[in-house]
Amino acid sequence: MSARAGSATRWDGRIARARELAAGDTPARETLSFYAQLADYQRSLFLAAADVPGAGDFLQAIDVDGAAATVPPFLVWLERTAPHSLALAATTMRDEEVDWRTLMRASLALDDAAVADTSRFAEAKAFVLNAVLQPFAEAAAIDRLDRSSSKPGMHSSRCPICSSLPCVGILREEGQGAKRLLVCARCLTEWEYLRVVCPSCGEEKFDALPVYTTDGFAHVRIEACDTCRHYLKTIDLTTNGLAVPIVDDIASVPLDLWAGEQGYRRLRSNLLRTADRQK
Ligand SMILES: [Zn+2]
Ligand SMILES: [Zn+2]
Repeated sequence: MSARAGSATRWDGRIARARELAAGDTPARETLSFYAQLADYQRSLFLAAADVPGAGDFLQAIDVDGAAATVPPFLVWLERTAPHSLALAATTMRDEEVDWRTLMRASLALDDAAVADTSRFAEAKAFVLNAVLQPFAEAAAIDRLDRSSSKPGMHSSRCPICSSLPCVGILREEGQGAKRLLVCARCLTEWEYLRVVCPSCGEEKFDALPVYTTDGFAHVRIEACDTCRHYLKTIDLTTNGLAVPIVDDIASVPLDLWAGEQGYRRLRSNLLRTADRQK
């Protein structure tokens, strides 16, 4: 089985987990139901992403033409499937002449200024950009990791493949303890990162790095930093092996609300920007 086909099961896992959590007693039911459908759509994009032959650089390896061509049918899909405000924004974006290809290239190059948008639909546009790029970036990242023999290093809080910030952390069992990994918001690559270091400012003092948990989400940790006031949400797979980090992140939005009330800012929002919307 190719690395790509094998990795499609990761999308199956995300979809199944979102459906399962949406069926339970959760304040995030609507968001999770929408995410389950979105992940199913993204899975098809992931499988359709073309290999870019001979691409040396990661940014070149992403099928940006394919991704940009995907946007018009994705907007139609959003009109039918998304929550009301996003569906309305999709209708408007269909009528606008947006140069998605250029926007995608700028976004991948982390050129925030070129992607910045002050229009009424800025948030919806960013969502479309990120939702479409995520599976294409993941496909390119997997093909790349598959060819590379070296493992990503553990001292950078930026993704070793695409240099984006992580959207969520993971604790995974290792020997007698647990190791921490970060999950890239853009390409979903996971890489190991030191456990007691703030991924935002590099603070290492234990006393400045409080960890908050709550009974309602026993496997979800708010790993905060009192120096820079950012936090990373980390999903503890050692206490819940069924959790799927990017889905359990969406399900535990009350913790983001709480962290915001304490004056902490999330390092990087998730695709659905549930944390931002609560503010
Ligand atoms: Zn990445
Ligand atoms: Zn910090």
